[in-house]
Amino acid sequence: MTRKHDIIVLGSGIAGLRAAIEAARGSELDVAVISKVQLMRSQSVCAEGGTAAVLQPEEGDSFELHAWDTVRGSDFFCDQDVVMRFVQEIPEEILLLEHWGMPWSRRPDGRIAQRPFGGHSYNRATFAADKTGFFEMQTLYDTLQKYASVTRYDECYVSSILIGDDSLRGITVWDLTSGEFSFIQGKALIIATGGACRTFGFTTHSLTATGDGLAMAYRAGLPIKDLEFVQFHPTALVPSGILITEAARGEGGYLLNNRDERFMEKYAPVKMEVAPRDVISRSEITEIEEGRGFSGPDGLDYLHLDLRHLGADTIHERLPMIREVAMKFNLIDPIHQPIPIHPAAHYFMGGIHTNIDGATPIEGIWSAGEAGCESLHGANRLGANSTAECLVWGKITGNEAARYASSQKTLPPLPKESTLKDAEAQVFSRFKTDGKENAYALRRELQKTMDSQVGVFRTGSELEAALNKIKELKQCASDIRVTDRGRIYNTDLLSALEADNLLDLAEVIVAGALARTESRGAHSRRDFPKRDDANWLKHTLAYYTPTGPRLDYTPVAITMWQPVERKY
Ligand SMILES: Cc1cc2nc3c(=O)[nH]c(=O)nc-3n(C[C@H](O)[C@H](O)[C@H](O)COP(=O)(O)OP(=O)(O)OC[C@H]3O[C@@H](n4cnc5c(N)ncnc54)[C@H](O)[C@@H]3O)c2cc1C
Repeated sequence: MTRKHDIIVLGSGIAGLRAAIEAARGSELDVAVISKVQLMRSQSVCAEGGTAAVLQPEEGDSFELHAWDTVRGSDFFCDQDVVMRFVQEIPEEILLLEHWGMPWSRRPDGRIAQRPFGGHSYNRATFAADKTGFFEMQTLYDTLQKYASVTRYDECYVSSILIGDDSLRGITVWDLTSGEFSFIQGKALIIATGGACRTFGFTTHSLTATGDGLAMAYRAGLPIKDLEFVQFHPTALVPSGILITEAARGEGGYLLNNRDERFMEKYAPVKMEVAPRDVISRSEITEIEEGRGFSGPDGLDYLHLDLRHLGADTIHERLPMIREVAMKFNLIDPIHQPIPIHPAAHYFMGGIHTNIDGATPIEGIWSAGEAGCESLHGANRLGANSTAECLVWGKITGNEAARYASSQKTLPPLPKESTLKDAEAQVFSRFKTDGKENAYALRRELQKTMDSQVGVFRTGSELEAALNKIKELKQCASDIRVTDRGRIYNTDLLSALEADNLLDLAEVIVAGALARTESRGAHSRRDFPKRDDANWLKHTLAYYTPTGPRLDYTPVAITMWQPVERKY
């Protein structure tokens, strides 16, 4: 079965929905939005603390300050022209969401409220209590429903991107609800499939965050940029990994060790608990390694996030969800007790390589949100800059894709029948094998490897061991046994396909990390503890080959600020 749409938006998180609205509202084009889960179950609904934007220049904030904070936070590794465009475009997005019905939290004078966030030197995280992503998604979803030209494909797993003559042909889709396998032909594709932190075991990411879009793009020949830079968020709840938003520290929460000391005093005496995430995560691991943590389950030692001094009113008004999470998952009430936390894999700074417009090197394909890498975050993202990035590059890519699709008189040629048959066989081939491996066990093994050897601190020997293990697991993956042989809601098969994606991406992360013999932002090598601008001020590009990634490099755009030492 072949379906046809002008624009295919792959992913229905904040980036995908914003892109779809932009494509639909400026044109007569026919837009498809595809998601492997029901639209509102996309991971973006989990975003908690806020979306960064300069809204009060008359009170002292400025584009330059937001840009400088982002550049410094990135360890001078973001593209500075990209940052400048971002800070200038995000305020309008905040106001647009407001017009579409977003219930932003307010100040007593009725203006939109903003709170402090890590690494920002002004209170610029705009928020809706601690459920910002949920309300942003709901607002975008409501708005999308105005456009009859949008077709939704919920619970449909996209398995491959087909490219011919260096341009898009379309995508292949397995409909989980009916079992049907189809091809969607499109003039333009926007990949907005989110991140891949499920490569790690202790993570804040949803079970669905398996990096399918990145892996598909990689296998289709698109370069993947800077994947070695994985952000570890300092405050994930032990032992579940559920995020305790940075807003808890933005509102004044303390980090304490087992001596009841605010240990950030030693590591970031000015910024303390609102230093950038890479700095705090390293400080926490150091405290634990030096014996000042609390002993936790399965070796997951932890520190305390203490909110008691904020008082019940602030917690009820500003942080109701994290209180509920702590109470339900740990039987702890943060009004009266500190919260046990540990750094967890949280965000991919890298992604599909794009230019400043979100365009990939392949004609007709764009990428936005966490899946894409236009190089806004460099080596370390600042909190609240991701939902903001999703809005800005959702708009930009929606617009660019619509302009391109409008200029194309016809759909691209259909791929050969045999290509589509191969794509279908690829998905269902595991039904034919009588393999010995279990996808769930294999995924756990991968996660264990990544947690223990590719974490906050890394060494060459650990990375080499991890790479060998990943290669071994890739061999095993071809022998995965899928016991359920049905095509409808076959979660065993889905898990096996996701395992292939996770393994390919883990290999890219580790290969990039092993090659990068320096410490920068979230990539911290014990054997190369210094940043090395002379040799490594360059983005990594990973290209697929059957034997593993081929690495290449491309320059970082330095347009305003030369790199200097980072101090907080
Ligand atoms: C717990 C948590 C809290 C956070 N809080 C904040 C915050 O306060 N502020 C901030 O700026 N950032 C925050 N972040 C980061 C931010 O939420 C995410 O980076 C951002 O929402 C990602 O949005 P996205 O649109 O790129 O992708 P996602 O929301 O992850 O959506 C991905 C979409 O792709 C679809 N998809 C994936 N693979 C396939 C496939 N094979 N076939 C079909 N569809 C597919 C999924 O179904 C989904 O619809 C937080 C992250 C987490 C995990």
